[in-house]
Amino acid sequence: MTTTTSIDVITKAVDQSLSSNTIIQLHKTSTKIEDKRLSSHMFDHILQQNHLFVNRELLRPSFIPEVLPHREQEIHELAQILSPALNHETPSNVIMYGKTGTGKTVVAKHVGEELRTQGKAMGKQIHFLYINAQLIDSLYKILQYIGQQLINNTVDVIPLNGLSIDTLFAKITQRLDTQKQIIIIVLDESDKIKTNDDALYTLTRINEQLRQARVSLVCISNDLNFTEHLDARVKSSFGHENMVFAPYDAEQLQDILRERAKVALKSDSIDDEVIPLCSALAAREHGDARKALDLLRVSAEVAERNSDPKVTRKHVRLAQKKIESDCTAEVIRSLPLHSKLVLIAIMKTKKNHREAGISEVMTTGEVYDYYKSQCEKAEYDDLTQRRIADFIAELDTLGIVSARVISKGRQGRTKEITLATPVTQIMEILQEDEMLKDLLHRNLHNQRRLI
Ligand code: ADP
Ligand code: MG
Repeated sequence: MTTTTSIDVITKAVDQSLSSNTIIQLHKTSTKIEDKRLSSHMFDHILQQNHLFVNRELLRPSFIPEVLPHREQEIHELAQILSPALNHETPSNVIMYGKTGTGKTVVAKHVGEELRTQGKAMGKQIHFLYINAQLIDSLYKILQYIGQQLINNTVDVIPLNGLSIDTLFAKITQRLDTQKQIIIIVLDESDKIKTNDDALYTLTRINEQLRQARVSLVCISNDLNFTEHLDARVKSSFGHENMVFAPYDAEQLQDILRERAKVALKSDSIDDEVIPLCSALAAREHGDARKALDLLRVSAEVAERNSDPKVTRKHVRLAQKKIESDCTAEVIRSLPLHSKLVLIAIMKTKKNHREAGISEVMTTGEVYDYYKSQCEKAEYDDLTQRRIADFIAELDTLGIVSARVISKGRQGRTKEITLATPVTQIMEILQEDEMLKDLLHRNLHNQRRLI
């Protein structure tokens, strides 16, 4: 039996076309037309693929839904704490605790929005100011931001730096006190504020300087021991109410996802098993609603890119892998230089073992020797074997390598190291680092073939 390969087909076609010049000419013209058609309609095909989402933005963390299943009680409690603002009375300060993805931010923003609307309807001066301390992370920046946000004053702009804290504080209190108003300041991720104690202490004392306006603080923290880290002086001046956000269980996550899927995805676009699976996977990770929503969004994106008619279990699994690999990429990117050098040494040792036909498992000593020679060549100061062992342990904790301690009897103990992340992925990320490009090229440029 003869089989026709694709090479045969191409050769035949080339022979045929070579037999006539006209055909070649025609072919050239039609390719040109084709190119033109392709370039002016290049998004048509992609747009046709967008068949699963009604609006993908509704599955992103920045979206604040109107319905927040399983947070009715927390919403009610926060609303009650802040409600005195509607009578021009000062609400108590609040601290909201809970692990990531338990709905702290979204509940605070949701209640803030309602309060603002209600205040407006009642003709009350209520301001609700949301500050993310991951971005606005010092007392100076916080005060500057408050000043700029509340007083729409383009003439007397408060500089981003340069004033003393005392001058800045005086300026802000003066601005706030120009009228009778309640200002609720949400400090999200408040454990990220530099010199946290001083900052919070200053902010809690702000009311002492005000005659007309009143300020209340809502601190949000992922750290359940947040107040334990604060000193006594801050604790006593803070005088606050506590709210604890418990992790969601798998069933609660299902309700959250169902509500969101209703508005973000077309009906009949997901298999029945998809939401339970996304919820179960996120429930394993301390009931993080962000994880659950990300999984659902990425699953739908994967299905859409494959032009599949529905999101299925298969897409959830692929999405999970994609999210994990994006996370690993971020972790590798942020490693310190010498940890990256250790990673290169591990990849190179693995390659040497393969070429020698021996097991890929390696010891700390081998990795260290290679790391040292690398440093010499690149003229970096090398670190001690002890430090390198620490880096290897850290890479193990991060799940990039796997390091197992084994006893070698009288010779003591050593570590057996294997790579737990695909070489191609590590290479791709390390190559972004200009300092490492050369090293990688010299040592591992033909590594791809070995995976
Ligand atoms: P935290 O601030 O506790 O880390 P977020 O409030 O940012 O958590 O919530 C994470 C994501 O999950 C956000 O996209 C948020 O909209 C969503 N989310 C959390 N809780 C709920 C809920 N009860 N209903 C709907 N969406 C929720
Ligand atoms: Mg948050």
